[in-house]
Amino acid sequence: MIEIDGSAGEGGGQILRTSLALSMCTGQPFALTKIRAGRAKPGLMRQHLTCVNAATEICGAEVHGAELNSQTLSFRPGQVRAGNYNFNVGTAGSCTLVLQTVWPALLMADAQSHLKLGGGTHNPMAPPFHFLERSYAPLLRRLGANAELKLRRLGFYPAGGGEIEVVIKPAINELEPFDLNDRGAEVQAHAECLAPALNRSIARRELEQLGASLGWSEDQLRVAPARQNEGPGNALMATLAYEQVTEVFTAFGEKGVSSEKVARNVAQEVSAYQASDAALGPHLADQWALPLALAVGKRQRAAAYTCTELTLHAKTNFEMVERFLPVKFLTTPIKGGWQVRVQPT
Ligand code: AMP
Repeated sequence: MIEIDGSAGEGGGQILRTSLALSMCTGQPFALTKIRAGRAKPGLMRQHLTCVNAATEICGAEVHGAELNSQTLSFRPGQVRAGNYNFNVGTAGSCTLVLQTVWPALLMADAQSHLKLGGGTHNPMAPPFHFLERSYAPLLRRLGANAELKLRRLGFYPAGGGEIEVVIKPAINELEPFDLNDRGAEVQAHAECLAPALNRSIARRELEQLGASLGWSEDQLRVAPARQNEGPGNALMATLAYEQVTEVFTAFGEKGVSSEKVARNVAQEVSAYQASDAALGPHLADQWALPLALAVGKRQRAAAYTCTELTLHAKTNFEMVERFLPVKFLTTPIKGGWQVRVQPT
């Protein structure tokens, strides 16, 4: 039984999700205490409980402590089963984080899985759907793990109601680690504003301000078409596609936050990324650790990547991955960021 202190490092939900994902991939049980002790409302919130229940369902785990607000959990995984699954957070909690919990395990299954996920699709402090679709999934594809993602309906806080459909193909024999030290030449960059059920002028204002800060032209600024019965919500996203990687930076509008502030938040993230040559931005840097380590462990071959920043999220995730997989993370400062090397032990 791997014993994990949920208050270590970043002390958030990622410790839980990485433990669930890698417990299922490796068959090792774990016991987690002080769940999300670093957060204002510690313990399992609805969104985290959905992750636990989803993991339990796909592998028939034996679980104790799977209750709202629980601060301890023990999880003994069974065999992962491919299949058709429906996971609904039931609130505006992020359903993309539920997807990231079960994704690695379903890659290890022997057949294709079809998932329907419900909840928030664009939440602060979680990967927005478009980030998974444009940034994360293409990197997984290069690793040998194919998935198709479809956004059926946007879901924002507080209404929720978003829907995603995902097909995950088995990749157990396909995973091949690769180095990602350079982003390559820029291919294209654009910004778009999702603002269902809000006045179009809000979207235009945010885009114009972002465009002005970054020096982007009118044809790089897009207001996403309004669809029916969505929202209200507001996400401003900048997508930067390079030969080797695509990054998506997002900020959220809410009541009391000016459009200038929303645009400034995205512009700052884009500028910080553009100021460096490193391949991955801060969020991809923590999320890429797990799938890459699975491939490194499987092939017993090291791989590296560069990133603009090493956040506490990233460092905490590296430590979690090392608890479950036969790998070691080595980090070296480079100009404009860090290099992360994942080595088999
Ligand atoms: P936690 O705070 O422990 O629940 O983990 C949140 C996860 O969401 C981390 O993997 C973050 O990198 C990721 N995340 C948060 N904000 C974004 C964003 N704007 N784009 C992509 N990923 C994000």
